[in-house]
Amino acid sequence: MKRVFLNILSIFVLVILSSTSAFGQQSQIPAAPSPVVSKQIEPNIYMFTGGRGANTGAYIGEKEVLLIDSKQDSASVAQVLAAIKKLTNNPVTRLVNTHADADHVFGNRFQPADVTFIAHENCLKEFFVPAMNGTPSDWNNPALKAFLPAVTYRDRLDLQVSAKRIELYYFGVGHTTGDTVVYFPDEKVAFIGDQIFTTRVQLIHAYKGGSSFGEVAALEKMLSALDARKFVCGHNDVIDRATVRNHIAQMKDLQEKVRALKVKGQSIEEVQKQFEQNQSALGQTIYNEII
Ligand SMILES: [Zn+2]
Repeated sequence: MKRVFLNILSIFVLVILSSTSAFGQQSQIPAAPSPVVSKQIEPNIYMFTGGRGANTGAYIGEKEVLLIDSKQDSASVAQVLAAIKKLTNNPVTRLVNTHADADHVFGNRFQPADVTFIAHENCLKEFFVPAMNGTPSDWNNPALKAFLPAVTYRDRLDLQVSAKRIELYYFGVGHTTGDTVVYFPDEKVAFIGDQIFTTRVQLIHAYKGGSSFGEVAALEKMLSALDARKFVCGHNDVIDRATVRNHIAQMKDLQEKVRALKVKGQSIEEVQKQFEQNQSALGQTIYNEII
């Protein structure tokens, strides 16, 4: 009887293993990206979803166009530029990188040659940070210098794009060390990069110096400094103030849970076991931040 049970168990394990490897093989085939789609947020303010990489934002001025983040391959950049061409003949003159992750900056190199790139000073430094596996950054290549941010700022920078004032804010370390919020005060629209994910667990790039406690503080500063009503994220749809507040509350809740377990003397492995697999990386980041 015991042997039968063991056989059934081993078949069960085999089925799980084979289905896992089949899934693994499937996930190795890169899915073709969905086409770029433009979405109007306010008159003259757009976001472009789809393609490879994060959402791109655009302000269509009377004489020029400003972009926010640049997608991740030439085909996606070409689709964004083609979509803009349908809206205006004005040239893209400036592009703000909200932070230096590849899905937001790799496409800089496929933008028109005379575009000026703008970012927080820490974001520029992060272009040169090696990947998590130690691979050196390809931005060390001198041929790419023209596509690096040439304009940087520390706390705040105002841009005049045709008749429109656009404000760039730095609220501190969060998702990375150099996250910019691009704010349109007339329309009360803020582009916030990857400071909030709503469709997956929040990513905090601890290996680059990002911080979950910093992210919460930065979002709270943003809510008190800006009267924004629409928040455009890198990887999900536009959210409202209530969703930002809810995200902050969830992060604080997770931080307090991890703190309570660490105070009890639990090891990082014990703490990670308490969380769903998809939350364990964030749990580990928070654990390491708590002294
Ligand atoms: Zn991203």
